[in-house]
Amino acid sequence: MKSRKWIQILLACMLALTLCSCNRTKEQQPDAADFAQKDIYAMDTVMTVTAYGERAEEAVKAAEKEINRLDNLLSTGKKDSEISALNDAKKGALSKDCVNLIAKSLKIFHDTDGAFDITVYPLMEAWGFPAKNYQVPEKKTIENLLKNVDASKIHLNEKNASVTLPKNAEIDLGGIAKGYTSDKIMEIFRSYGVEAGMVSLGGNVQTYRTKPDGSLWKVGIENPDQGKDYLGILTIRDQAVVTSGGYERYFEKDGKRYHHIIDPKTGYPAETGLKSVTVVSEDGTLADGLSTALFVMGKAKALDYWNRHSGEFDVILEETDGTITVTGGIAESFTSEYDFDVIETERKIAENE
Ligand code: AMP
Ligand code: MG
Repeated sequence: MKSRKWIQILLACMLALTLCSCNRTKEQQPDAADFAQKDIYAMDTVMTVTAYGERAEEAVKAAEKEINRLDNLLSTGKKDSEISALNDAKKGALSKDCVNLIAKSLKIFHDTDGAFDITVYPLMEAWGFPAKNYQVPEKKTIENLLKNVDASKIHLNEKNASVTLPKNAEIDLGGIAKGYTSDKIMEIFRSYGVEAGMVSLGGNVQTYRTKPDGSLWKVGIENPDQGKDYLGILTIRDQAVVTSGGYERYFEKDGKRYHHIIDPKTGYPAETGLKSVTVVSEDGTLADGLSTALFVMGKAKALDYWNRHSGEFDVILEETDGTITVTGGIAESFTSEYDFDVIETERKIAENE
């Protein structure tokens, strides 16, 4: 599974850079001094930060510092993180980042009818994902743990930056923290006057402005089928592209595959006929939270949700039978060697009739 992470880097980052750099003319090639790039291992994945501009080096350094700061704050895998301390004590005063992220997670929880629920952590532990000691829990264990899975019971007081969790509840920001981190890196790029930039955090990519030659970034969407080429290529600027799928992290037991995206209603890995969900949005945090949520919701609910929120994001769905569906807002930006269906909002269909 580790090699999958490296494949993600190749796809998400190298493709965006390598394909794009092929198109760059010699005259437009930025000076070496104007380019900086760094690989960083954090949040259980390999991340790559790339920046162009006079202060590219400083910006990449600041981004690395920020990634490590957020990892130390948000990761359940770090014993001393703020989130781990909250899970132990069940209450506490939190940093602005944790408050922001919990608030956003709760909003997505409500909007997605509970498909995105950060209180899944006890289930993640029961399945052995955090410690990589994978096991299929007893049905009874899951039933018991489900009693503590309900984000509506989190008390967040944004004014005095404090959170209280119910007894036995624990939270996990793994489904949204990388998107928040890439949003923060865009802020750093802005403050350092970066000309062009990109960050790849595992399966998440976020682009800043256009490439130095003014052309758009090309981001390869990983194909969940191992050994196959990309699902397609998105040509974008100023957007985050976040993919979730059961193929990213899983184990097999008695010939059955169990993956890491849990349906908070059943306590089992979500099986909704989707292989992968890619969300495209200017808001990296939203894109990350939604990619996880829409995977849990399945195609029909995911597209219904998009129909009601089409101004906020677009989506590429791949089903287990290989069917690919792309929403209208990115139909023109997506190319693929595979056939794909394009879906429009009900409003747009009505307008065209
Ligand atoms: P992602 O790769 O962004 O889809 O996030 C998957 C991670 O989110 C998992 O490894 C868990 O840490 C966490 N997670 C799993 N299921 C859910 C869920 N239903 N809602 C929120 N977070 C989840
Ligand atoms: Mg996510």
